[in-house]
Amino acid sequence: MKKESTLYVVIPCYNEEEVLQETTRRLKEKLTKLIKNKKISNKSKVMYVNDGSKDKTWEIIKNINENEELFTGITLSRNRGHQNALLAGLMTAKKYADVVISMDADLQDDINAMDAMIDKYNDGCDIVYGVRSSRKKDSWFKKTTAQGFYKFMKLMGVDVVYNHADYRLTSKRILDSFENFKEVNLFLRGMFPLVGYSSDVVYYERNERFAGKSKYPLKKMLNFAWDGITSFSIKPIRLVLSLGVVIFAISLLVLLYCLIIKLCGKAVAGWTFIVGSIWLVSGIQMLSIGIIGEYIGKIYSETKARPRYIISENLEDIKNEKNN
Ligand code: UDP
Ligand code: MG
Repeated sequence: MKKESTLYVVIPCYNEEEVLQETTRRLKEKLTKLIKNKKISNKSKVMYVNDGSKDKTWEIIKNINENEELFTGITLSRNRGHQNALLAGLMTAKKYADVVISMDADLQDDINAMDAMIDKYNDGCDIVYGVRSSRKKDSWFKKTTAQGFYKFMKLMGVDVVYNHADYRLTSKRILDSFENFKEVNLFLRGMFPLVGYSSDVVYYERNERFAGKSKYPLKKMLNFAWDGITSFSIKPIRLVLSLGVVIFAISLLVLLYCLIIKLCGKAVAGWTFIVGSIWLVSGIQMLSIGIIGEYIGKIYSETKARPRYIISENLEDIKNEKNN
């Protein structure tokens, strides 16, 4: 067993003023218990990442930071989305922590699963994935779309942990290696398995959001799923290729057919056929170009290598400077 490690809990927050106080209360209780039981060191903290919220989220975080030992925060210069905010938090927290757990601000993911995660880490695991054992409390729509998404990802050849979102423990060693993953289109739950090292899963029940609305409307969810597929899988391109081969084969047959018709002297007939094929083939071409274009779009944004986040203020550093 390792000696007590310093744990940082990283929580991206976008317009979460309604949940932050309650989240803080519950996590304070949890962390205090973990520290008391000597599961984690007393330097452990919760790090909120304000993802350019438009409400009072950052004021609340600053206020909590002033009054609570166990809480700190960083803020991004503008809203960059859940994945970027999470990455910003992870890369910042690893400077102070031995091990980091990421979770959502609404505590839909059961914080009591943290105990088992830390135990597995102490047993030598570098990544522990939180996996939803049931989705009874999710709406029918969310459940169906989410599970369909995981299945579709698998079909597309993307290695994701089924029913695992972003509730996960990662060791400092994992995060140090992760820093070298320079891609811009982030799909963290697909990227972490690529790092390697030993991993395990912990099962938990997913709760309802206790306040506020989901910050993941359908549009964001679809964008996220699309990113997941196109950032990780070249299967869509292969499908286009297979489609091309099939169409080419068919076109040879059609050519043969046309020749026979011509030789038989019945060439006038077949207007429907020609028009039909033009529409069909150009339709497929358009689709294919669209998919290939998507990848070119990705190459374009990757080559630009823009920073994935910009931290404008880090309360932890400010505090440390003051103390020195
Ligand atoms: N979030 C974020 N930036 C965004 C959208 C969401 O940091 O642009 C955070 C949000 O504050 C929450 C987490 O991502 O902590 C997950 O969002 P939410 O709970 O709304 O998603 P759901 O559980 O409905 O999928
Ligand atoms: Mg949620």
